[in-house]
Amino acid sequence: MKVVKFGGSSLASGEQIEKVFRIIVSDPERKVVVVSAPGKRNPDDLKVTDLLIDCADRALRLGDAGDLFHSVLDRYILIAKQLKLPEGIISRIHDDLLNVINGDKSSPDHYLDAVKASGEDNLAKLIAAYFQAQGVEAHYVNPGEAGMIVTDEPGNARILPEAYDHLFSLRSRSGILIVPGFFGYTENGKVLTFSRSGSDITGSILANGIKASLYENFTDVDAVYSVNPNVVDDPKEIKELTYREMRELSYAGFSVFHDEALIPAFKAGIPVHIKNTNNPNAPGTKVMNERKAVNGPVIGIASDQGFCSVYVSKYLMNREVGFGRTLLQILVELGLSYEHTPSGIDDISIIIRQSQINEELEQQIIDRIYEELHADEVKIERNLALVMIVGEGMRHNVGTMARASTALARAGINIEMINQGSSEVSMMFGVKEAEEARAVQALYREFFD
Ligand code: ASP
Repeated sequence: MKVVKFGGSSLASGEQIEKVFRIIVSDPERKVVVVSAPGKRNPDDLKVTDLLIDCADRALRLGDAGDLFHSVLDRYILIAKQLKLPEGIISRIHDDLLNVINGDKSSPDHYLDAVKASGEDNLAKLIAAYFQAQGVEAHYVNPGEAGMIVTDEPGNARILPEAYDHLFSLRSRSGILIVPGFFGYTENGKVLTFSRSGSDITGSILANGIKASLYENFTDVDAVYSVNPNVVDDPKEIKELTYREMRELSYAGFSVFHDEALIPAFKAGIPVHIKNTNNPNAPGTKVMNERKAVNGPVIGIASDQGFCSVYVSKYLMNREVGFGRTLLQILVELGLSYEHTPSGIDDISIIIRQSQINEELEQQIIDRIYEELHADEVKIERNLALVMIVGEGMRHNVGTMARASTALARAGINIEMINQGSSEVSMMFGVKEAEEARAVQALYREFFD
């Protein structure tokens, strides 16, 4: 039994949904189909999820969604027309959308999640109707009814462990099961979404839940590329990746697959196969426990912007018991999460996502570290990019760090920070955001050209 997930661009129009249908029926093992909301039809188009966020914002401010309501509904009307579906499905979607937009606004965050979730929910209903119209037994499955129970963290829900037991029973249902991605229900019945692009997470949870033999993730590229194709022309495709490599690359900026989506599949040992809806015969990229082909130390290079570093220096820091704990406690009390903590003998840097801190908070961090830790120096440096080279091969290859730092030096790029994860499958370089693209290109030339 396979779980198959389709992203928004694979479902953006009737024509795309016809391709999805052909893919599903060509393999009888494709049992559970997870769908996103309709995505972009062209680069200038809008995703339904973004339109829904605008609807919710407006309704929260002004009491109704105005014309935005129709901009969402029209996407479904068009798809239904292209697929020649009877009127009934559209009146069902109309009523559902109206209901959700007029819903309880007492908690804006929960309200926003309910509106966002309707994007996938209504598309799953439409797709089930289309499959049925083609004479194929298919059923819409509501995630709450299936047992997808999540934590009460709006916009960032996490699955609860007991959900997996409930989901197992989906195996015994008949027909193809069409499940909306991106959301679950809290124990007391509230709709909560995962973080953005979270349908990948739903697919992975379902693959674990039903103990699938494979989790297929259909998107709009032939494979995962070794580097962002917007930064390097015609980069190499990756045929096989380990879970760890994929997790590191997704975390550091590869947007093909959500970084939180690997763990459920990985825990159940289910391989993930990334494929292209528009070219389903291309081999795609397989993500699995171990890979055979090791082509040199580095398999991929990723990068992401929007980080800042909190640099703290104090002579004899290494001998001060509890220094790190107090420092991190300050972050806890200010409600901040951190990404990395490279450290030396007398200094430590804490890398934080910049979006979490404004100027006022920045000053509070600095003041508290001086006061509570009597630091010699505290400074916050903004606008950093993290560039990461990833590959299982690094564990067995000597000199990867030397090659990488020499390549950056040759390109005249100053390295602000270096961090090698304990897993030894990645190395990370902090550079100024303005140097990010050049850093990635220099590393690509070194390891792939
Ligand atoms: N539609 C949601 C988003 O745009 C979830 C997804 O597509 O996976 O974030």
